[in-house]
Amino acid sequence: MRALLLPLLVLVASPAQAAKVNVVVTLSDYGWAARAVGGDAARVSVVCPPDQDAHFLAPRPSYARLVAEADLFVATGLDLEVWAPVLLQKAANAKEMPGAAGYVRAAESVHLLDVPAVVDRSQGDVHAQGNPHLHTSPVNMRRVLRNIAAGLSRVDPARATEYAARAKAAVADLDARVFGAELVRLVGGDTLAALAEKGRLHGFLAEKRYKDAPLTDRLGGWLGAGRTLRDAPLVTWHPNWTYLRHLLGLRLVGTVEPKPGVQPTPGHVRTLTAAARTSGAKRLLAASHFPAGRVREIAGRLGLEPSSVPFHTGDAGYPALVDAWLAALLGR
Ligand SMILES: [Zn+2]
Repeated sequence: MRALLLPLLVLVASPAQAAKVNVVVTLSDYGWAARAVGGDAARVSVVCPPDQDAHFLAPRPSYARLVAEADLFVATGLDLEVWAPVLLQKAANAKEMPGAAGYVRAAESVHLLDVPAVVDRSQGDVHAQGNPHLHTSPVNMRRVLRNIAAGLSRVDPARATEYAARAKAAVADLDARVFGAELVRLVGGDTLAALAEKGRLHGFLAEKRYKDAPLTDRLGGWLGAGRTLRDAPLVTWHPNWTYLRHLLGLRLVGTVEPKPGVQPTPGHVRTLTAAARTSGAKRLLAASHFPAGRVREIAGRLGLEPSSVPFHTGDAGYPALVDAWLAALLGR
């Protein structure tokens, strides 16, 4: 009787289960992108909880098993997840090692900022290969969506068309949110994104005219809402928002950490206090994974309003995260 039941159970349970592609991502932001592109075909697991600092995570041992069984692994591919190589090694899944078909480097083709001329980690710099917090710009997330679509298509070519269609829809949705639907219709999302990456968007929009007015008048979405932030002074705890700052045109006065990942000295805080005063900056923006008490204390010394905000995508999704950042920057 047992021998008869077992094959039946396998038959009933297998079709829907076997069809799913197992995806493990390091950050919840990539998780959002993988779900957007993978839809019902993907089962997505996130290693770093959204309220933790990805630089200093110690992944739970159970994640090595998840990675061992996964079809696709997504990581930034820079210094951010220093624990990812160890996780991959423990999982010993050759299909997901960097360079293999089942590995997606989220930073692939992203226009990196803060890339030092020489890689130097001697003073504890955790951004030695360039700023790794690429998810802070939705323009970079268009590339992440496409990189994940390419990865899913490599490991599951039968659904390649489906993945490409979903990535296209997700990119179009982001474009409308970043630039406003009208400007996207007039110029095209890819052109606008390329100009934004090169820091040439605002010059282009001021120069080009449509119906006797500069294209700047058509700017909507997050960039339209953040128009008043151009050249506005900003102080942050860690250089978290470099890509968003570049997109919005904010001016960085300084960071509390003298180098990414390095604790401030009293001398550095004194220098930053003087710079913050001269600049007219009003608030200290910090990711909520930095201790709120310490952020308040340092903000008090700097003469700034403390503002702790979520840094990674939560249940409400990536666009809600960008909305929250913009609200904090605008002081709402
Ligand atoms: Zn960092």
